[in-house]
Amino acid sequence: MTIQWFPGHMAKAKREVEEQLSLVDLVIELVDARAPYSSQNPMMQDVTSDKQKLIILMKRDMAEERVTQQWLDYFREQGKYALAVDVNQKDDIKQIVKQTKQISEHINERRKEKGINPRSLRAMIIGIPNVGKSTLINRLASKKQAQTGDKPGVTKKQQWIKIQGEFELLDTPGILWPKFEEEEVGYRLAAIGTIKDQILHLDDIAIYILNTMKQYYPDALVKRYSTLNLESDDVVEWFDAIGKQRGCLMSGGVIDYDQVADVIIRDLRQGHLGRVTFDQM
Ligand code: GDP
Repeated sequence: MTIQWFPGHMAKAKREVEEQLSLVDLVIELVDARAPYSSQNPMMQDVTSDKQKLIILMKRDMAEERVTQQWLDYFREQGKYALAVDVNQKDDIKQIVKQTKQISEHINERRKEKGINPRSLRAMIIGIPNVGKSTLINRLASKKQAQTGDKPGVTKKQQWIKIQGEFELLDTPGILWPKFEEEEVGYRLAAIGTIKDQILHLDDIAIYILNTMKQYYPDALVKRYSTLNLESDDVVEWFDAIGKQRGCLMSGGVIDYDQVADVIIRDLRQGHLGRVTFDQM
């Protein structure tokens, strides 16, 4: 399986992000808590290696809490700051501001030691499509706060948003494309809805979801699809059972497998299969 992004788009996105990076002290990289490894952008690991990094595991409400904690520990052991966030929780947004304030204080202490005047921290948000970048920027920027004005950017003027008086955030996120040499990574990203459904076959994505859930979350699977026989490894049998239960039928009562695949994927994305983390530690 090869998944091909348009190389031109990728190169342009990378260039833009690199230009923006030169303007900031802190890179806030968003990953999906359901796949913190697969939703990272490997291309950016080198580019941003000299910057202070805050990794935010987005959509924590959809991921298994225990594994999310393991990932937080893992990132922190690597010397990065890390938080898990549900954008709909005000306290989670407050945590980000608090964490950023601490990072800002550290950076300013170092600036002071070097005889450089302290100033507000400048940060940017990066991440793959659909990880939650725009939503988070909107939540951080309260309506009352106006933009702080223009600072010269490299190619164009950048807009900065002042976040609760604590730091300045570039208003345009850096959009990065996921890269997946590993087949599993492609399926994980497809399952959580990061890559377009047309790229991989829907039934393959659905089978991937069922197999992963059988391995890690069998109870949740049977809770949703009560007629599923997990003793069997026959996916056709699984599809038949789910199709019958959910009425995915074509004329003549034949099971419509496309519809079954659709049901499984939708159930997962809408949280009906419970909290699921695809990247297990
Ligand atoms: P972007 O492409 O990275 O800018 O992603 P968006 O900000 O458009 O978000 C993509 C989808 O993820 C939207 O439907 C958001 O409502 C949803 N989303 C973002 N953050 C969270 C979160 O913490 N929890 C949940 N459940 N959904 C989220």
